[in-house]
Amino acid sequence: MTIPFNHLEAIIHPDRIVQNWRKLEQIGGKAYAVIKADAYGHGVLKVTEALERAHAHTICAGSVEEAVAIRKNGFSGRIMSLLGPQLDQDYALCATFQIIPFVGQVPQLRRLDASAAAAGLRQPVALKFDTGMNRLGFVPEQVASVLPEIQSCSHVDVCMVCSHLAVADDSSEQNFTHKQGQRFSTVVNYLRDAGLQFEASLSSSPGLLAHPELRFDAQRPGISLYGGNPFWGTENEALGEGFVPAMELRSRVYQVHPLKKGETVSYGRTFKAEHDMQVAIVGGGYADNILRCLSNRTLVTIHEKRARLLGRVCMQMAAVDVSHISGVQPGDDVWFLGGPGENPVRVEEIADCCGTISYEVLCLFGQNQRRFA
Ligand SMILES: *Cc1c(COP(=O)(O)O)cnc(C)c1O
Repeated sequence: MTIPFNHLEAIIHPDRIVQNWRKLEQIGGKAYAVIKADAYGHGVLKVTEALERAHAHTICAGSVEEAVAIRKNGFSGRIMSLLGPQLDQDYALCATFQIIPFVGQVPQLRRLDASAAAAGLRQPVALKFDTGMNRLGFVPEQVASVLPEIQSCSHVDVCMVCSHLAVADDSSEQNFTHKQGQRFSTVVNYLRDAGLQFEASLSSSPGLLAHPELRFDAQRPGISLYGGNPFWGTENEALGEGFVPAMELRSRVYQVHPLKKGETVSYGRTFKAEHDMQVAIVGGGYADNILRCLSNRTLVTIHEKRARLLGRVCMQMAAVDVSHISGVQPGDDVWFLGGPGENPVRVEEIADCCGTISYEVLCLFGQNQRRFA
């Protein structure tokens, strides 16, 4: 635990993640909950404990180390590692802790087989095929040469075959998405014809929600579990609604003072008052991942009313226009994300202020101290 240096708290609602997961399974069938990168900033152990209580069957961690930590914490279902074995120690860890790694290179297969054999264990794996991301994985053209490799690995069981869509969130790119779907089908059929038995999985949240025709045996939703909308700002936006945000970010007001017409606030004097105002200085700055690009842009809520940041975000503080909110006092709650009231600030709005996506904001905000509701 690092020494607390601020007064921000990310408030996490694991029950809402469970609720979103159930809804995703209702919509798209079997869903492997993606909890990589510390559950998108939500705290992977608490999130997986909640998923375990809800009898979630399969979860996707990032690194093998993350997967092992979840297993050691008591998760009894299937744990995948999307990054697969990278470090020397990862191979033995996968067998010992029965982690299902993504595997996209022949040497990884051989090393996994050797470690499992040495330990007298079986090694379940998820074969990863690259159908268009051009990131990790075997290419579909390799499938004929990969098959005998698999067959010669006597301790490896292929339990999943996966790929990942590059533009499932973009309805103008349907052709590319369908091409990926076709490439994936070809691979899946080839391996099934050869007698392998496995679950096939292609779609993450946007594919699950926008492409029912690309549902294989399971989907891998991430962002929708946490209440983010992968279609924000697109014509498909409605498809991503209806999931409950699972993170809120709260801090406190430090001081309230008037700002006279013509005066400026914060470094660089980037905000100048056009009329007399009331300003609250609040805890939260770029050291807390209240990104500096939110300067003069993002909204917060105080007393359930929206208010805009004024001037540059500092390392640990920011200024807020509270001219329209009466009775703001030092110690009052300020919500950078979520909070009570009719109109809490959404993660997508914050992302828009900085030209980024909800995923990045959640990962960053979640690095603050967390409280679990
Ligand atoms: C992160 C990730 C997902 C989840 O994606 P979302 O867009 O958050 O639903 C699924 N599969 C893989 C391979 C991933 O890396």
